[in-house]
Amino acid sequence: MRTFDIAIIGGGIAGISLAYFLSPHRSVVVLEREDALGYHSTGRSAAEFTLRDNAPLVNALARASHGFLTTPPEGFATVPLLIERGSIILGTEDKAALVRARYEQARELGVAVEWLDETAMLARAPMLNPTYAAAAYFDPDYWDIEVDALLQAYARHARRHGAEILENRRLAGARRAADTWLVETNEETISAGMVVNAAGGWADTVASLCGIAPMGIVPHRRTAITVDLPEGIDAGRLPEINEVEEIFYFKPEGGRLLASPADATPCEPADVQPEELDVAYAAHYVEEATTLSVRRIFKSWAGMRSFSADRLPVIGPAKDAENFFWLAGQGGYGILTSPALGSLAAALITGSPVPEALTREGIGADTFSPERFS
Ligand SMILES: Cc1cc2nc3c(=O)[nH]c(=O)nc-3n(C[C@H](O)[C@H](O)[C@H](O)COP(=O)(O)OP(=O)(O)OC[C@H]3O[C@@H](n4cnc5c(N)ncnc54)[C@H](O)[C@@H]3O)c2cc1C
Repeated sequence: MRTFDIAIIGGGIAGISLAYFLSPHRSVVVLEREDALGYHSTGRSAAEFTLRDNAPLVNALARASHGFLTTPPEGFATVPLLIERGSIILGTEDKAALVRARYEQARELGVAVEWLDETAMLARAPMLNPTYAAAAYFDPDYWDIEVDALLQAYARHARRHGAEILENRRLAGARRAADTWLVETNEETISAGMVVNAAGGWADTVASLCGIAPMGIVPHRRTAITVDLPEGIDAGRLPEINEVEEIFYFKPEGGRLLASPADATPCEPADVQPEELDVAYAAHYVEEATTLSVRRIFKSWAGMRSFSADRLPVIGPAKDAENFFWLAGQGGYGILTSPALGSLAAALITGSPVPEALTREGIGADTFSPERFS
């Protein structure tokens, strides 16, 4: 039987980023049930990096991750991982005061936001409908994340440090024998000193398979579509477009416009598919907020955003087993926070100090501990 220090369950961004940070220090195996890494949530995200749209602690994680993503270690990635895009934050007439308040808040933080009159707004996003978008400003601090390049870079370097990343390898169950786990997969039984639960929407399922009490991580379905842009609009130059209360968001994607109705429907963990109604809402918002008419949906998809009860990540050893470690509940920000969360989890597992990028933001070893749900 093969023996590893750590068996990580889940080959999405959570599991693979942890493998990257952990593999120089421990022997690591990653078990991914699908035949490709990132097949579930990680491969279905909107790939946005934002510093301001989330809860304060998530924004702190974003700040702690920004340096890694803009200036990764030498030789880490072959392409830039963050691409400047900026965002227009907009609202209808009845939300104009809210848009203005957000703009003022950002200005007070020293962000180079720019208030947009109609001409300036249309110069940045010519397809917007000024009758709908009565108030708008531009925030430069939004980036596209090169998600696949990031995931593959984590995986490549983890493998270089000896991590085994196994696809088509499903955890079927695990039991404890003294200080070790016997991890049963569809192929072989593996022995590991610790099991890390990085199974995304299946985090509670994986806990149950290991005889550990579930944490109440609930997947929420989110939908996206892409539609054609008219000729003459350079998708590459468009900013992201965020409705001020996140009723919807748009961004360019592969020469087309991605639109999401920002749905968040609790669901069972699965290979979730888009519901017709959510697709229709996405198309409706495009037609309402822009001058485009949606003749065809080029592509539609859905994925899971998985939340704990307080909507913050859960990182740390299980209350009922020291050598079962939670790395779950990354909600709608698991890609952008992966450098911070992967390095924090690795530090906790190896007993090392919390990295400075996190302590600078006031994040400590217990900030995301499962203990808070005691
Ligand atoms: C539409 C949408 C838009 C989003 N936009 C953004 C965004 O702009 N920015 C951002 O940062 N985040 C965004 N997110 C959130 C982000 O995608 C997630 O937070 C992140 O991908 C979670 O990563 P994960 O590794 O935890 O989950 P996953 O990528 O789902 O990985 C978990 C893996 O565990 C595997 N697994 C489960 N059970 C087992 C088992 N028994 N054995 C072996 N393997 C198993 C699964 O097959 C899966 O591959 C978005 C999500 C969606 C759906």
